[in-house]
Amino acid sequence: MKVFLGIDWGGTYIKAGVVDNQGIVLEKRFFSSPDFRKKNIFLTRIGFLLKDFKNFKIQAVGIGAPGIVNTRKGSIYYLPNIKGWKNFPLKQKLAKYLDVPVFIDNDANVFALAEARRGAARGKSRAIFLTLGTGLGSSIVFDKKILKAETSAWELGHVPVVLKGRKCGCGGRGCIETFVGNRYLLKRYKSIRKGYSEAGDVEDIYKKALKGEKAALRVWEEFSHALGIFLSGMINIFNPQAIIFGGGISGAFKVFKPMVLKEIKQQAMWPHLKGLKLLKAKAKDAGISGAGLLAKESMNN
Ligand SMILES: [Zn+2]
Repeated sequence: MKVFLGIDWGGTYIKAGVVDNQGIVLEKRFFSSPDFRKKNIFLTRIGFLLKDFKNFKIQAVGIGAPGIVNTRKGSIYYLPNIKGWKNFPLKQKLAKYLDVPVFIDNDANVFALAEARRGAARGKSRAIFLTLGTGLGSSIVFDKKILKAETSAWELGHVPVVLKGRKCGCGGRGCIETFVGNRYLLKRYKSIRKGYSEAGDVEDIYKKALKGEKAALRVWEEFSHALGIFLSGMINIFNPQAIIFGGGISGAFKVFKPMVLKEIKQQAMWPHLKGLKLLKAKAKDAGISGAGLLAKESMNN
C-alpha cells in the first residue's frame, strides 16, 4: 500500500505519522518541538523518521509549518513563534536527507485539507476554515481545492477591521486577530471582572460562560460580535457552504455558535446565507492527516 509521511509542526510538539491515501493515520510519534529548534537537528531527525517507519512504503513527505511558506519552492519565509527560520529553503535542504519528494504548506492549510477530505467539510466545494487559539489561523477551500498563491496565504486573521487599531503580532494594526485571540479574551475578561487574578485560561472563561457567569458571557458576546461581523465580510466574498471552527477556542463552540450566527444573519447578504453551516472541526489527527494528504495530492498534481 502506498503511504505518506505527515508532519504536524507545532510550537510545543512535532507530531509525525504514516498516513494512507484516505488520510487515515496508521502510526504516529510525538516529539517535543524545542528539541527540533536547531535547523540541522530538525533535518537529521526528519531523515531518521523515515528510517523509523521503514516497514512502510512512504512515497512522499508533507509538512504543515507554523508560519508563512512558499508552497511552490517549499521554502519558509518566517515562523512567527520560532526564531531563526527566516528565508530558509527547507525542501532543498531536506533533499539531502530524504530519497522521496517533500511538500510544505502552512499548518492552517494542512488542517483545512484534513477537514475538507475527511472531516466536517467533507463533500463541500466551498468552505472557510478557522483555527482559533493564540492567533487566528485560516484557510479557504474553493472548488474543492485550497486556493494557491505565491505564499501559503489566506491569512484571514490579519485582515484589519479597525483603522489605527491595536498593534498585531504580524506587524500591522487593528487585525481581527487582535479581537478574537486567546490573549485578548483573557485580558478582556480580567478587565471586566476587576480583581480577578486567578491564572485562568480561555477554557476557564468558556466553562464560566456555560454556568451563566455574566462577565464570561460578555467576553463571548464581544468575541462573537467581532467574529460574526468579520465572517459576514468573508461570506459576502466567498459564499461558503460551511465555516469550520478548529483550534483551542473551538472548545467554546457551543457557547459562541448561536451568537456568531445571529451577527452573520444581521450583516451578511442573504443569498449568501442559503445552506451555510457553522460546524466544529472533527477530523482525527487533523495536522498529521492533512500533511499526509498534502503529500498525496501534491504527488498527483
Ligand atoms: Zn495582524
